[in-house]
Amino acid sequence: ANPIFSSLPTTIFEEMSGLARTLGAVNLGQGFPDDPGPESVRAKAAEAVLNGYNQYPPMAGLPELRQAVAGHYARTQGLDLDWASEVTVTSGATEALAAAFFGLIEPGDEVIVFQPVYDAYLPLIRRAGGVPKLVRLQPPNWRFDRALLEAAFTERTRLVVLNNPVNPTGVVLPSEDLALLAEFCVAHDAIAVCDEVWEQVVFGAAVHRPLIAFPGMRERTVKIGSAGKMFGLTGWKVGFLCAAPDLTHALARAHQFLTFTTPPNLQSAVAFGLETGADWFARMPRGLERSRDRLTEGLRREGFAVLPSQGTYFLNVDLPASGVEAGDRDFCLRAVKEAGVAAIPVSALYEADAVTTIVRLCFSKHDETLDAGIERLAKAR
Ligand code: PMP
Ligand code: GLN
Repeated sequence: ANPIFSSLPTTIFEEMSGLARTLGAVNLGQGFPDDPGPESVRAKAAEAVLNGYNQYPPMAGLPELRQAVAGHYARTQGLDLDWASEVTVTSGATEALAAAFFGLIEPGDEVIVFQPVYDAYLPLIRRAGGVPKLVRLQPPNWRFDRALLEAAFTERTRLVVLNNPVNPTGVVLPSEDLALLAEFCVAHDAIAVCDEVWEQVVFGAAVHRPLIAFPGMRERTVKIGSAGKMFGLTGWKVGFLCAAPDLTHALARAHQFLTFTTPPNLQSAVAFGLETGADWFARMPRGLERSRDRLTEGLRREGFAVLPSQGTYFLNVDLPASGVEAGDRDFCLRAVKEAGVAAIPVSALYEADAVTTIVRLCFSKHDETLDAGIERLAKAR
């Protein structure tokens, strides 16, 4: 028989979580919280499973959830989305990304992507027939500028994919960068796919601004959200696509063949969470900010150089500035195998041959987990 073969890569998140599970390591790799998430939202899901409707919901999602999404973005980001023609529920942001790429890319279209890049983007873009144009960003600021965008945009540019707030760097992009990108999208008649799953996880003075609100972007932006990230329920896989009606039609073509629908009980619970979540949305980032500070301070005490993080569950360590000579992948393998702590080498979020010396750590963990992680990382130096 012919050997079965896939050219798709193995995701670094599964590789590292797999090693953490087999080796019993502290897992500061894959991004998920130790906390169980809001109880009222989980109770609503349980009630909906027992007493609610458990057959296929409408393809675009339950009206109650689509209304709640539009209401949430009106309150928190000042957006004016029409729930009926501009909001689609997906099975996680991952499906939303796949629907955007399969719905909007035609073979040969150029797709601008910033590196480091969330690992699902490139394999999906390529399977959709897109030709990635990679823009490489540099630490410690990870910002793009006019010259980088001028080099990336061409007359074949169809899509630009932006993640903001940014996983893995913890950057929340300032308005001027978003305005610059918007200017290029308008000038080149390109569509922006803006992955804003971390929009609710922003610290201190940083403010998340949705790209769709910038001049000329209302009709050409696909805004992606994730209830998993909003409520710290990462296993839930309920996502949102928000886009002008024409774009929403194109996205629906892909969504119908990817998953068609998303579990209705989770949709009802997320709708409830969005309607009642003001207190949660105020508290949750403050708790995570404390955890970020605990991990930062502990690592600095051990001599690690920690880059600033304004949002997400993640911060980054600069190995050379920490006096560690290894590449990030070697360091992470040593850390998980010899010191019992899993982390993510940021080189995995670049094209295959890139070597970087930056390590991503997840801080959405209880104090004991963070403290154990710090102690073990110190041993991996
Ligand atoms: N995009 C980014 C930038 C993410 O960090 C994640 C989850 N870590 C996702 C998409 C996927 O979100 P979901 O779990 O809702 O599919
Ligand atoms: N988004 C999570 C992270 O960045 C991983 C999600 C996944 O496992 N694909 O850690």
